[in-house]
Order: sequence, then structure tokens, then C-alpha cells
Amino acid sequence: MQTRNLIAGRWTNIGSGGAIEVADPASGEVIARVPMCGASEALSALNCAFEFQPEWEATPITQRADVLRATAAMVVARKDSLARIITQECGKPLAEAASEVQYSADYFSSAAQEIQSLNEMDVALERPGVRGVVRHRAVGVCAAITPWNFPLAMLARKVAPALAAGCAQLAKPAEETPLSAFALAEILLECGLPPKCLHVLSGDAKVIATTWLMDGRVRKLSFTGSTETGRLLLRQCAQEIVRCSMELGGHAAFIVLQDADIELAVKGALQSKFRNAGQTCICPNRFLVHESIASEFAARVAIAAAQLKIAPGMESGCQIGPLIHDEAVEKVRAHVADALKRGGQLVCGGRTKIIPNRPDRFFEPTVIANCDPSMLCFTQETFGPVIPIMSVTSAKEAIEVANSSPFGLAGYVFGGSDAVTRSVAQQLQCGVIGVNEAAPSNARAPFGGVKFSGYGREGGAWGLMEYVTTQYLALRSLEK
Ligand code: ADP
Repeated sequence: MQTRNLIAGRWTNIGSGGAIEVADPASGEVIARVPMCGASEALSALNCAFEFQPEWEATPITQRADVLRATAAMVVARKDSLARIITQECGKPLAEAASEVQYSADYFSSAAQEIQSLNEMDVALERPGVRGVVRHRAVGVCAAITPWNFPLAMLARKVAPALAAGCAQLAKPAEETPLSAFALAEILLECGLPPKCLHVLSGDAKVIATTWLMDGRVRKLSFTGSTETGRLLLRQCAQEIVRCSMELGGHAAFIVLQDADIELAVKGALQSKFRNAGQTCICPNRFLVHESIASEFAARVAIAAAQLKIAPGMESGCQIGPLIHDEAVEKVRAHVADALKRGGQLVCGGRTKIIPNRPDRFFEPTVIANCDPSMLCFTQETFGPVIPIMSVTSAKEAIEVANSSPFGLAGYVFGGSDAVTRSVAQQLQCGVIGVNEAAPSNARAPFGGVKFSGYGREGGAWGLMEYVTTQYLALRSLEK
């Protein structure tokens, strides 16, 4: 397992701030020590990336695409070992980690394909003798800051289009989960990426980010994390007019209309809510169910939820692993307590499951009926396995409640009529919507939000466009 940073073309364990301990959330045991980098390491990485940028940008597109395709293949070939790293550092069930590995590989194949289809375009200028041409250029050195909940995929969806576009990439993974990032960097180098093209640093997030963003040579930041940190970074980016993509917090609504296929909706609720124990930014947080079926929905979700296997992620058949750390558990407990205090009815769960010799971080799948928008779980992202259900009287009310949140990342609509579900979906103020579909994410489709959930898109052609600038040439030819 790689535990060193990749800086200026070399693997190094030098960290001016000492070391960071990486712990397995399922056991609390330290599984690795990685460098705590600060300003000096961040600057070495940036100097090297900036120097190398023109060379990578000048590398033929087919050659860049070949590196990405080889990376996709090698990520898949190493699915088992990568999945184990993900589970060890972030706690999710091994089967989910394996899906994350595949999802990450898809970003590399998608970026390879998209860069090869990004062509110059002519513009009809309607000016005799002048031809308008629009082309794309790499945006320049890019920085990526990623969270712990998808330690491989969140990096892959930034690194793949950046490298495809011809950008040198600086990356800072989350303190909790740097090991997946190092493993990905190893694969990229093995697949022929010039080492100076990618720099992966663990360390002091604030210092590293400030060093990169206030320098003037980083031209683009792609950030996935909390809205609070996103705001802070946007302020820093304002100084040097650094272009940003911000994938921030979510607070997805899960709407179940009167004529929904309840079985499908229940299955969808479990699938979308309990992935990574509820710790994904597109997990539904507010279940808005038509009053005629709300109690049946709650009861059926609770019965299905009770069957889920709660265990350390490495254990065979595990469906719900531990929460990332003790503070996460406290937040979930606080949300549950608040909902019950305000009149919510506990249908199942509501507490942690005690597993001998394990930390107290295994939260039971929880269903709370009779919820309303005054509750904490309706105003803040819970990031845990809690399904709060509010009865609504109409699709109109569901849409109003859904859109009353300042967040707008994902949404879900379950219902029997294609025309109605599509119309409801289109009225939701969010960027990604599943209609009778609980897993809308796809590396070839655009992912991103509106309002407090940020802006910019990742995935497919849209993800690539975030890493290029548009250059327009008005060409008057003097040759006969
Ligand atoms: P989460 O609640 O998911 O941990 P954060 O926004 O705190 O969300 O973290 C997401 C990423 O942002 C991590 O890589 C973290 O190290 C980084 N981060 C946190 N605070 C800052 C900061 N002040 N400046 C730059 N990066 C930060």
C-alpha cells in the first residue's frame, strides 16, 4: 500500500508538519501514517506542475487518451485491492467499494473518449473573407480538493478530465482517506503518465489550499466538500480569478406520488439512502410521500431496513458499515433526537448497534414518520442512515417543500405516470434527478448542483468542458 506523497515527480514521505494517522473507521485502528504537508511541499508541487504544464498540453491528444484508457483498464484490473483500500479507510461495504472502483474507471474511459471528440468549430460570421474558428485550450494548472466519502471516485472525476484536457493536476485528498488517492496516482504513473503531471499531497488542507489558490499560477479549482468550506475557497479564488467547480452539500428530496409502484419506491429508498450508510451527497434526506401511502411506505421500508446486515465493511454480506467517525455518529443521534422531540414517530432504528470490540459507530437504519420541515433532519444534511418521512397532500406540495431548501444537488421522483413524474422532476431545483431510478449517477452524464450545492458539472462532455477555455480566432487569410 502506497503511503507516500507524489510531489515533483517523486514519491516522498517528507511532511513539514509531521504525519497524519489514517484510521480504519470500523476498528479505530491506525492503518497508515502519511505525511502532513504544508506550504513548502505545496509550493514544490506547484512549481513543478507549472513548469511541466506546457509539455503536457503539447502532448498529442491521442497519447493523453491512451494513458487514460490504460488507467481505466488497470483500475478495473486492480478492483479487489483498490476496493479493500477504500473500505479500510472510509468504512463502506466492500461490494460498494468495488462499485466505486468501476465508477472511477468509467471516468477515465469517458474522459479519453470526450477529449477525442472535442473538435474545432467554425462560426458563421457572415463577414466575407474572415473565417471564425472556435477551439479549446487547457485551462492550465488545476487543483483538486476531495472528500472522504468516495475517496477514489471523487478524485477520478477531477483528475481524468483535467489530464485529458492537457492540464497538470495538483490534488489534496481528505485527511481521512489519502490512501486511495496514492493508489490511483501509482496506477496513472504505471500507465505512462509523466510523473511531473500529477502531484498528490496529504496534509494541512487550509495551508495547502491557500498556497495553491493565492499564488496566481493555479488556474482552476475543483472542489467537492461542504458548502462552508466551498464558500471559504471561493473567497480565496476571487483574489487570482481562479476558475471553480464546486460540488457542495446536498439535501435531496425523495418524492413518492400517490400512484407510485410502492415496491419500487421502497427498493429505491433503501438503495439511495443506505449507500455508504447514508454518507453520500446525493443520499435522499427528505422523504415526501403522498398521505394515502405514507404509512404503508414507512412500514415497508422499516421491514426491509431491518433485514440489512450491519457490520464492518470487510465482512462478507455487509450492507451498512460504520459511520466515518464519532462526530458523525453524534450528528445523526442529534438529528434523530430532535425529530422525535418535535413529534416524529420512530418506526425502526434510532440508535447504534453495538458490535463487540468495535467502536460505537454502527448506526442502525432508521425510519422516522410524521416529520415536518421544522426538524433538523429537514434543514441540514444528516449524513447517516436516517429516513425521515413527511406526508404530503399533492405533488405541488412535495415540489414546494423540496424546493424550499437552499441546497439543490439531487432529487428523486417515484410515480406511475411518465408525464407526471417527468414534469415533477423538471420543476425540482436541483442538478441530478432520478425518476423511478435510485442510482442516477453515471460517469458519462453531468453531475453537479444549483444554489448552495454549487456549480459546475463533472462527468462526460460537461466534465471535460470545465477544464478547457474557449479560444476564438477571427482568421483573415492573405494567401491566394
Ligand atoms: P466534510 O464535511 O465532507 O469533511 P469538508 O469541506 O470539511 O467536508 O472537507 C472536504 C475537503 O475539503 C477535504 O479534503 C478537506 O481536507 C478540505 N478542507 C477542509 N477545510 C478546508 C479549508 N479551510 N481549506 C481548504 N480545504 C479544506
